[in-house]
Amino acid sequence: MARRTKIYEGKAKILYEGPEPGTIVQYFKDDATAFNAEKKDVIEGKGVLNNRLSEFFMTGLNNIGVPTHFIRRLNMREQLVRACEIVPLEIIVRNYAAGSISKRLGLEEGTQLPRPIVEYCYKDDALGDPLVTEEHIAAFGWASQQDMDDILSLALRVNDFLSGVMLAVGIRLVDFKIEVGRVYDGDLMRLIVADEISPDSCRLWDIETGQKLDKDVFRRDLGNLTDAYSEVARRLGVMPKTVTKPTLIN
Ligand code: UDP
Repeated sequence: MARRTKIYEGKAKILYEGPEPGTIVQYFKDDATAFNAEKKDVIEGKGVLNNRLSEFFMTGLNNIGVPTHFIRRLNMREQLVRACEIVPLEIIVRNYAAGSISKRLGLEEGTQLPRPIVEYCYKDDALGDPLVTEEHIAAFGWASQQDMDDILSLALRVNDFLSGVMLAVGIRLVDFKIEVGRVYDGDLMRLIVADEISPDSCRLWDIETGQKLDKDVFRRDLGNLTDAYSEVARRLGVMPKTVTKPTLIN
């Protein structure tokens, strides 16, 4: 069997050339990083959970007409996705204050925001993904005005969908990050949701108890990360069977 060509290795995923032109295989690793990779660990089972959860969210989005890069899941850790040109922005949507906006604006974590707030960060690890405005985005040509209109509309549709799906299982969608990419169909260029949507890139709090069910569990040493992600998966009916390591019986 021919060895696959690795296109890119990031903090949580590896991208390989796909079987057909215009496709990519996205492999989910167990590696967890936080604070711009200052904190690192390997969390057994995280990749399997994120592969399934991202499949679940992206499929739901495709079904309601929000275009995503997701084509199909290939196995426990891999999914086939459409190749796209990633726009160098992290698009953050916030419903409640937490994390960096709480620090920046002195808002108590958990404060409901007057309306969803969309923020943009420039994707550059060396710079720590700095917050940027639409002025920077336009001036440096990272995205056009038409792209920004489409990005805002995609971000808000993803927010409505994810908020509803989470609310139905007793989880509050505090905030999340998406990435978008450009695909070309003949002469037409469109933007689609790319990368992943998983508890690595969302803040998810239990509505009743406030328990954190996302990457803050790792960032803030609040317990076992796979237990938290498994709870999200269980409530959503994703991976009903828990993944356990085979044990040898004497
Ligand atoms: N986020 C992400 N990747 C990043 C930065 C943020 O997935 O590189 C997500 C994060 O998990 C949270 C939301 O975007 O759900 C808002 O993050 P925030 O700006 O509060 O950053 P943090 O507190 O993580 O520094």
